[in-house]
Amino acid sequence: MKIIYIDLDGVVADFEKGRIAHPMSSVSPYIGRPDKLPGLYENLEPISNAIESVNQLLSNSDFDVYFLSTAPWDNPEAWMHKRLWVAKYFDEKLIRKRLILSHHKQLLKGDFLIDDRKFNGASEFQGKWIHFGSDLFPDWISVLKYLNNIK
Ligand SMILES: [Mg+2]
Repeated sequence: MKIIYIDLDGVVADFEKGRIAHPMSSVSPYIGRPDKLPGLYENLEPISNAIESVNQLLSNSDFDVYFLSTAPWDNPEAWMHKRLWVAKYFDEKLIRKRLILSHHKQLLKGDFLIDDRKFNGASEFQGKWIHFGSDLFPDWISVLKYLNNIK
């Protein structure tokens, strides 16, 4: 069984769209600090194809799937909202206790990390970093195609 970690913002949850739509995104002190916007994480929309794709991975017995996201240290409500977000969009039975929030993703043991950014340890991950949004993995279709050809 291959262990897959999936980042949330920019991979499953549309952080950029939520940031732009947030009424306080261009108000001090949130300019340049969108991670501090109140309620931002609670109301993010899913990225296209993300929910169906993650569900496919979750129900594939070849894979052991976890969400691995970083919540802003100075915005404690974001930690709660990420927990609520995954429960809102996924079947509780499939994702229960499968949310890991960490600033040190490189410390987690596993085979794949699907992440759109190199930060918080993603680029030092010991398994394969699937760089979501890059030329090789521009979207979920390309990620699934790659993972389904692993075995
Ligand atoms: Mg991200």
